[in-house]
Amino acid sequence: MSNVLNWQLGRDMEYPYEAAYPDRQFAFVFNLNRCIGCQSCTMACKSTWTFNKGQEAMWWNNVETKPYGGYPHHWDVRTLDLLNKANPGGQTWGGEPGGPGAPYGRFEGRTIFEAAKNNISPEGAQRALGYLPADEEWSAPNRFEDNPVGAEPGRKGQMTFSGGELVPQHKTWFFYLARLCNHCSYPACLAACPRNAIYKRPEDGIVLVDQERCRGYRKCMEACPYKKTHYRSTTRVTEKCIGCFPRVEGRDPDGGGVPMQTRCMAACVGHIRLHGLVQMNADGTWKEDRQHPLYYLVHVAKVALPLYPQFGTEPNGFYIPPRWVPRPYLRQMFGPGVDAAIERYTHPDRELLAVLQLFGKDARMCFRYEIKPGPKVFETVIRGRKFEIHDDTVIGYARDGSKIIETKVEEPLHVRGTQFANSI
Ligand code: SF4
Ligand code: SF4
Repeated sequence: MSNVLNWQLGRDMEYPYEAAYPDRQFAFVFNLNRCIGCQSCTMACKSTWTFNKGQEAMWWNNVETKPYGGYPHHWDVRTLDLLNKANPGGQTWGGEPGGPGAPYGRFEGRTIFEAAKNNISPEGAQRALGYLPADEEWSAPNRFEDNPVGAEPGRKGQMTFSGGELVPQHKTWFFYLARLCNHCSYPACLAACPRNAIYKRPEDGIVLVDQERCRGYRKCMEACPYKKTHYRSTTRVTEKCIGCFPRVEGRDPDGGGVPMQTRCMAACVGHIRLHGLVQMNADGTWKEDRQHPLYYLVHVAKVALPLYPQFGTEPNGFYIPPRWVPRPYLRQMFGPGVDAAIERYTHPDRELLAVLQLFGKDARMCFRYEIKPGPKVFETVIRGRKFEIHDDTVIGYARDGSKIIETKVEEPLHVRGTQFANSI
């Protein structure tokens, strides 16, 4: 085991290999307040990469309804349970969120790598604490779709509640959690592979399975806490999200030679996704890149948080938490940065409002943005606080410096002309 810095935990942690970081890292931010559960992302991925025989139960991108849904079933609850059993009552955070070396505070519990040491099975110690889902857990990928929690007892089979709901938090709630491989900085799949068949690309941090080396031992499936590697019965090896690497490399003809967002990102109907490549320091932290939209959202505005950072893999997928969901649930899922993130998201300043307009506007990756100030167009008071909207213009640039996005905070209103009247 080596000691590596996990900036999401605010401390060093143990990992089976020496740290090695790419120059640029594949990363994304999803705004869960906007996801409508349409599964366009899921189908964009499936129709591109997993439509062959043996890939029927393979959903590299999936969207599950939380809290009950999950693919495989209950993947997160099962791993949280294992960690709690390994370290009863100790999976807590300390310190104050917001410090330079500890943006979410300091995680005092054990990661899946640290907890594995004491988990000796008849086969020996695991590299990462985990479990292998049974075949039936990979069935019905969208089980519990739209099922809320917190409903009052009502007629059988119906979810009822009375008294309405008031923001900020709802009594009866669900939300859609869109997921894919996080192309982690400390991948558990890679750590657990006895064949060294999994590697992380130095140019963009995408984590891949070498199909020639893999022997289908499924140690990666056992170790990945997000359960994002998949076994293919027809080839008897493991496959996983490849981060649409030809697009990320700028080889998709539609991109004109510049890096493009993955298929699931570009197909997102709800415009919840922003995907990019962030610059890394030699110690694995993000290099300051003030005008990069992902750097801004994660490290400046701090509205986007990692998914289950306590697992310890340092995932590179970040989420703007859904604001109506009870906070204890969100704190468990996204760590102690939740309250500040929701506070900023629900009272956005001019820059945040402008950057949020970049989501879903162009399939090419945005490497830099700038904002041109516009006039004040709206003013109100929200929950006792003054709130203003300025019609600022936000401009996004591709890797080669060409302009790919120019849009305004105030969406233009288009009135359908009478010549286009619907005749039905
Ligand atoms: S999410 Fe899972 S499969 Fe993807 S890199 Fe992390 S540990 Fe590996
Ligand atoms: S395409 Fe976008 S809005 Fe639709 S389910 Fe996927 S992430 Fe959500």
